[in-house]
Amino acid sequence: MVKNRKKRKALVQQSYCVACGCCVKVCPVGAIQIMNGITAQADPSTCIGCGKCAKECPASVIEIQEVED
Ligand code: SF4
Ligand code: SF4
Repeated sequence: MVKNRKKRKALVQQSYCVACGCCVKVCPVGAIQIMNGITAQADPSTCIGCGKCAKECPASVIEIQEVED
C-alpha cells in the first residue's frame, strides 16, 4: 500500500462564509452542506476535491487543500 498519498479536499473558512448555498448547489457528490444556516461545511470523507465549490463561492472562502490520505 502506498503511504502518504495526497488527496484534495475542500476547506471552508467558516468565519467568512455567508451561507449563500452556491457551493451546495454545484457539488457533484453532495459533500458540502450549510450547517445550522450559518456556514458551509465540506465532509472530507465524501469530498473528491473537484474544486467546483471553490470556483463558485462568491466570497472566495473555500480552499482546496492537499491532505494526507
Ligand atoms: S471540492 Fe468538489 S466534491 Fe469537494 S465539496 Fe467542493 S464541489 Fe464538492
Ligand atoms: S458558496 Fe461560499 S459563501 Fe456561499 S455557502 Fe458556500 S462557502 Fe459559504
